[in-house]
Amino acid sequence: LPKKQSDIGPLLEQVGTGKESLSFMKRRMRRLAAQWASAAPRLDDKLRGRWREQKRILVHIGFLTEESGDVFSPKVLKGGPLGEMVQWADILTAFHVLGHDVKISVSLKELHGFLGVPPGRGSCPLTGPLPFDLIYTDYHGLRQMKHHMGLSLRKHKCHIRVIDTFGTEPAYNHEEYATRHGYRTNWGYWNLHGQQYMTMFPHTPDNSFMGFVAEELNETERLFIQRDKVNNMAVVYGKDASMWKGKENILAILYRYMEIHGTVYYETQRPPEVPAFVKNHGLLPQHELQQLLRKAKLFVGFGFPYEGPAPLEAIANGCIFLQPKFNPPHSSLNHEFFRGKPTSRKVSSQHPYAEQHIGRPHVITVDFNNSEEFDATIREIMKLNVEPFLPYEYTCEGIILIWASNVSSLSSWPPLSALRLLSSQQGQSCVEACWTEGLICEPAFYRFINIKEAFSALDFQCEGLESEMNHLFPAFSAEHAECSLQHDPLLFSCAGSSSKYQRLCPCRDFRKGQVALCRDCL
Ligand code: UDP
Repeated sequence: LPKKQSDIGPLLEQVGTGKESLSFMKRRMRRLAAQWASAAPRLDDKLRGRWREQKRILVHIGFLTEESGDVFSPKVLKGGPLGEMVQWADILTAFHVLGHDVKISVSLKELHGFLGVPPGRGSCPLTGPLPFDLIYTDYHGLRQMKHHMGLSLRKHKCHIRVIDTFGTEPAYNHEEYATRHGYRTNWGYWNLHGQQYMTMFPHTPDNSFMGFVAEELNETERLFIQRDKVNNMAVVYGKDASMWKGKENILAILYRYMEIHGTVYYETQRPPEVPAFVKNHGLLPQHELQQLLRKAKLFVGFGFPYEGPAPLEAIANGCIFLQPKFNPPHSSLNHEFFRGKPTSRKVSSQHPYAEQHIGRPHVITVDFNNSEEFDATIREIMKLNVEPFLPYEYTCEGIILIWASNVSSLSSWPPLSALRLLSSQQGQSCVEACWTEGLICEPAFYRFINIKEAFSALDFQCEGLESEMNHLFPAFSAEHAECSLQHDPLLFSCAGSSSKYQRLCPCRDFRKGQVALCRDCL
């Protein structure tokens, strides 16, 4: 059994120095170590020995390597994206605190060192056994590992986990299928198992949910927050001036009712996008942002960035999160940001998780182009009283439970008793079909419903029965009364829809605030 390591000193030493990204991560790791350490023992009973075996885990953060260009590190203090660093910091701290043997690599040199490539033979592929049980990396890191491990990567593939914020759908992951059917992207088609991709929010059930945590409050802090809330204080979500562009109208309406704060990075002068009536604090260190959120009543998103950690932090500190609805939804078909990403997901608002899994009164999603509606919403918010709220899956305890079921290979997970077979409407994905019934699509169950009998169970009369490679199968085509089974398990996919097919969907129930787990899962 691993000894839990609440002293994170040795881990911090491994992270290294000399880059703002690494300093940002270390500050966060230091701040949250105690929170992780106190959560772990509370779970000992629940986990009953699961995930207690010590794993050797390599964490290779590809996007921070010089070799991939490291575009993020120089922007850490300038309003660049921080979400990924939040997530990696949390992964490292949690694995260490839980007693695993963690090695960290942020350069090719370190990667080679850990993978046992002899010095001076930089491109020599790894031979022999892999010295790790698990390797957590990202798409950049995956490419680097392929380059340096060559063919042996294939042999070790099942040990790899890819941190992939926005997710990768099976149609894009399957090399042959992607190539033949137009799903090839620059991110690659790695033929991994869908569950090896780990997302930041539970938006793509074909992938696993990795998450991150928000700082948790004790009772005293909750009381202080409620006492100190300033009813007419709003903070705008947007650390880069470009996120404020074209929002004059919205800001003017908001300013009728509230004082507006911002944390926009600037060099010497106020950026022109940020009006003079906004109290701009400049980019704040994370803990100072928390303090600001504790006082504010409202946190307003302007549509970008998508699905970041900040709204959860705001809600956890008792703010209402007000965000724009996207109509039509943003996707790789119509928005530059998602173009070329290996997903067809339609994003219905700036933060779909906040919209769908948290909702009112903590989250209010409206059309920002409708000035009257926006105005009325602000007036409504002035009257609302909201308490701090953090979904269980974003607490240390909640997330350890989920990771425990990911990291330990529980063969009978989730239990088959949770399966609910449904058919989708034409044009509907299984994600949507399950969700309308208050359920979640569970790709692990596809193998049980990819059988002829599933069609009769749903009262579909099959004139013909075929088995093909198609990420929408198993499915029923009403036009030809044709029943189609899935030929390649790698293509089992909750995502994807077509007006031609009613798909067969393996759904399951879920715990409120912990979507990755079914009710009887642990
Ligand atoms: N953040 C910060 N200072 C600020 C604004 C944001 O430290 O002035 C942190 C915030 O606490 C959050 C992280 O930046 O954890 C990521 O924020 P965001 O939701 O904007 O996502 P991103 O686009 O950076 O990934």
